[in-house]
Amino acid sequence: MKLKSAIRRCMRCGFCRAGCPLFRETLSDGSTARGKLQTLLALLEGEIPASRRALLRLFECTTCGACSELCPAGVRFEEVLEAARRSFLRELELPVHEWMVEATLSTGNPFAREFEASVRRGGTAFFPGCTSHFRVREIESSCIRLLERYVKELSVLRMCCGAPLLYFGGEAEEFFERNMQLLEGFELIVAHCPTCTKVLREHYRVQVLHISQALLELGTEPVAPALRAAYHDPCHLARGCGVVEEPRELLLRAGVELVELEHSRRATDCCGAGGGLPVSFPELSARLAARRQAEAVSLGAGALLTFCPTCYLHLSSTAGESLRVLDASVLLAGGVHEVRREY
Ligand code: SF4
Ligand code: SF4
Repeated sequence: MKLKSAIRRCMRCGFCRAGCPLFRETLSDGSTARGKLQTLLALLEGEIPASRRALLRLFECTTCGACSELCPAGVRFEEVLEAARRSFLRELELPVHEWMVEATLSTGNPFAREFEASVRRGGTAFFPGCTSHFRVREIESSCIRLLERYVKELSVLRMCCGAPLLYFGGEAEEFFERNMQLLEGFELIVAHCPTCTKVLREHYRVQVLHISQALLELGTEPVAPALRAAYHDPCHLARGCGVVEEPRELLLRAGVELVELEHSRRATDCCGAGGGLPVSFPELSARLAARRQAEAVSLGAGALLTFCPTCYLHLSSTAGESLRVLDASVLLAGGVHEVRREY
C-alpha cells in the first residue's frame, strides 16, 4: 500500500468522528481516523519527530472500521493503520506487541502453545481459531456439537488465521500462503470467530461462512432458555463480513427476546477488544466495554449475547452482577451457564 497517497485521500471533513467509539470516550480529534491520518502524514513527511507519543497514537484504535463506513472519500482507515503499524512497530519498544508477532511467526499462534491435532474427515471444516481453542474451549466444543448434528464427517482445522500479524504490525503474506496449503481441498470452511471469518475471506482462497450463516442454511432449530437479551454485533462480523441478520434470526428462532442496542448492526460500537487496544490502552478499552454493558442494562436486558470469543472475554471480564455475558454458540448448544474461561 502506498501510505501517503492513501492518507491524502482524506478531505478532513470529520464525518468519521460520528462513528468512532474512541472519540465518544476521549472527545479528542487525535483519537479519530482524521486525527490519526494527519499524525501519520506528519510522521511520514518528517514534520514531527517519531516520538513514542506520536507513534503510540497508531495503536490507539480498535480497527473497528466504523470510520470507514462513514467516509465519503472511501478511506479504508483500518487498512492504512495496519500498514502503518507494520512500518513503525520496530521503532517503538512495545514488548507485548513484538512478542505476539514473534510468537505467531515462530510457533504458529500468538499464545505460543500447541493446538490439539486437527481432524480431517469430510469436505466441510470447522475453524475454531486460537482464542476459542486456548481461552474459551467451551465455544469450540459447542460449535462442533451444533454442526455435528447436521454435518456428517465434520473436519476441524485447528490453526491461527494470522490476524495477530495484521493487527500487531507483523508481515503476514508468507504465513497466509503456508496456511493456505492446509486449507486446500475443503469445500466449505465454517468459522465462529468474526476476525477469523474476515481474515479467511479476505486473505485465503476458500469458501467461508460464519457459523450463524451455516446453522441457518442447515435448518437448525435451536432452543434457548427464556431470556431477555441484547445482541452485541462484533465489528468484524457486522461491518467486516456483513453478517447482522443471521445471528438475530437464530436467537429469535430459539425463543430469545431480543432488545436492540442503540449502536447495532453495521453501526455497532466496538466492545473495546479490537485491534489490540486492551494491550495498548487497557483503561480505555475497559471504558468501551462498560458503555456497552450499561446500555444493555438500561434496556432491561438480563444478558448480553455475542458471537465472538474476544468480545465475550472482554465484555464478561468486566460485567457486573446485573448482566450475564454469553456467547450465542454456547447458549444455542444447550449451555445455560456462562462460558468457563481456560487459560
Ligand atoms: S470521513 Fe474520511 S475523508 Fe472525512 S476526515 Fe474522516 S477519514 Fe478523512
Ligand atoms: S477504526 Fe474504529 S476506533 Fe479506529 S479510528 Fe476508526 S472508528 Fe475509531
